[in-house]
Amino acid sequence: MPVPVTHLASHRAAPWLNRLMGLILLALITACANKPPVPVPAGITQRPLVILISIDGMRPDDLQRGVTPTLSRMAVNGVRAESMIPSFPTKTFPNHYTLVTGLRPDHHGVVDNTMEDAQMPGQRFSLSNAAAVTDRRWWDQAEPVWVTAEQHKVRTATMFWPGAEAAIHGVRPTRYASFDGKVSANARTDTVLSWLDGGNAEGFGFVTLYFDDVDHAGHEQGPGSPMVIEALAKVDRAVGRLLDGLAARKVPANIVVVSDHGMAPVGNTRVLRLDQMAPASSYRVVSSGTFAGLEPTPGQAAVLEQGLLQARDHVECWRKADIPKRFNFGQNARVPSYFCLAEPGWTLATNEQSAQRVKGGAHGYDHQAPDMRATFIASGPAFKNGVVLPPFDNVDVYPLLMQLIGVKPLPSDGRLEPLLPALR
Ligand code: AMP
Ligand code: ZN
Ligand code: ZN
Repeated sequence: MPVPVTHLASHRAAPWLNRLMGLILLALITACANKPPVPVPAGITQRPLVILISIDGMRPDDLQRGVTPTLSRMAVNGVRAESMIPSFPTKTFPNHYTLVTGLRPDHHGVVDNTMEDAQMPGQRFSLSNAAAVTDRRWWDQAEPVWVTAEQHKVRTATMFWPGAEAAIHGVRPTRYASFDGKVSANARTDTVLSWLDGGNAEGFGFVTLYFDDVDHAGHEQGPGSPMVIEALAKVDRAVGRLLDGLAARKVPANIVVVSDHGMAPVGNTRVLRLDQMAPASSYRVVSSGTFAGLEPTPGQAAVLEQGLLQARDHVECWRKADIPKRFNFGQNARVPSYFCLAEPGWTLATNEQSAQRVKGGAHGYDHQAPDMRATFIASGPAFKNGVVLPPFDNVDVYPLLMQLIGVKPLPSDGRLEPLLPALR
């Protein structure tokens, strides 16, 4: 039989004392009430498992396309947000790390999917660079849910999540998988269920599950396209498979479904060329697309500024210190010296070839842009039924997760208040 794990109380009083007090309370309750077995009091046994599911690139209106019966049912029986406001930049790695730290990208240090850091000369962070993705130095400016949870004896498991393969602050999830985009949605679900065999015998308190099918389809064909519809249906079935598997194993769970950002239609008729904005010899491109991060060529900063900082339609460029406050972006040393942001639907290309290739969908734009809004759905014993929350910031997901797993949150940019109306 699994040994009950004390969560919230475990860092306040000795576990044996909690257990003893819980047992006495349990005996009293059982003696007083002539009813079916009473659930073990809070503080002595494990709380319901918390499963954080990310459907990368899922827009809030994707829930209304009629192909997501499982997610729609979860929203009706639980909670959904009209939309969730992502953090800037609206890219995958920055926002996934925000969701599990409650910090804006400028504060957690994963400021883009592609990064450089003067402290690590010659190294470049990118999604496809496995050595970088698993290198804790890129992640160590913050502490994600699973690290704090493990330090408080709450076991965690990650079926993919940006950062989960690095030993952040020296700690890894109890179970995790090395990222492999080829693993199907169902196979990811089945791995999580295999970790929960024996009715969560390992006593996990927090598990992540990540799906990228909708993001891939959105990039390929654009939002609302046949490919997106198909991907939504596939991911919805995988979530249904998870719910069935949890029911079969009698594992109670609070499930929080999020996306990291939305998706906007783009095309090669709406492209701005960086090399036509400033002489190509005056800069080096760190990142380009929906936004561009540039470093000046030594001695060429004035030339670069003269071209880049003039007013243009469909794009705004700043010195990093001048990025408007509402983006909460530009303080971190990893933000490039010059930053340009395209208007939603427009693309910043490095040359003619890359301009021609633009098609389908993209994200990375202003976090307030309607097309960048993200998804939030939650259901389980902790959540009320049928609540629709007004839009809130994705930094607020972190205090919610910590509340659900029963571990004190670290200081963050998020607040639980906007989510309180959702909780029982
Ligand atoms: P993007 O759309 O460029 O912001 O990035 C999304 C892509 O990141 C997805 O298509 C995934 O294939 C990839 N990705 C997601 N999680 C990871 C991870 N943990 N490690 C490496 N790549 C990942
Ligand atoms: Zn994404
Ligand atoms: Zn994407």
